[in-house]
Amino acid sequence: SAKEPTNLNQLTDEYLRLAYHGLRAKDKSFNAELITKFGDSLPLVKVVPQDIGRVLLNLFTNAFYAMQQKQKTAGAGYKPILIIKTFTPPSGGWGASVRDNGTGIPEAIRDKILQPFFTTKPTGEGTGLGLSLSYDIVVKAHNGKIEIDSVEGEYTEFTISIPATT
Ligand code: ADP
Ligand code: MG
Repeated sequence: SAKEPTNLNQLTDEYLRLAYHGLRAKDKSFNAELITKFGDSLPLVKVVPQDIGRVLLNLFTNAFYAMQQKQKTAGAGYKPILIIKTFTPPSGGWGASVRDNGTGIPEAIRDKILQPFFTTKPTGEGTGLGLSLSYDIVVKAHNGKIEIDSVEGEYTEFTISIPATT
């Protein structure tokens, strides 16, 4: 499919709702606070919308999963919070960060998570393809970047950015 000028804030909002409602349809007891802080300039960037949508969907489902896992052990005082920010990078284009207060990513697996088929999820719950596909889409096909920041037990934050000219 072809690249087309896309309102990425709107795309982000759509896929966030899709991910959250899909999850809540299966698990009504899961409540997360969703905090969105979208940059105010209207960012039309040339991307393949379905592909960037898949990247966003995987980031959101990974984040919700990590918060569900944490909820199993953290007890009643734990409140899942997902913070999504979008911004315009200094050199133009569009970026987004997705931060969850879930399990975090252990140091020992940090450099493996982008590899195809690497997953810590049980069979049927994860293929391990989400982030490797995201790397292909964001970095290879759109000339962008993926950054990962995480503290085990505390939080995970993924930041993707896509230049104005992809
Ligand atoms: P999958 O979701 O099918 O496991 P991904 O490529 O999307 O495959 O993710 C690979 C692995 O990276 C996950 O199994 C998990 O161990 C880790 N991971 C990704 N996102 C998060 C997150 N937000 N919090 C904790 N771990 C994560
Ligand atoms: Mg995934």
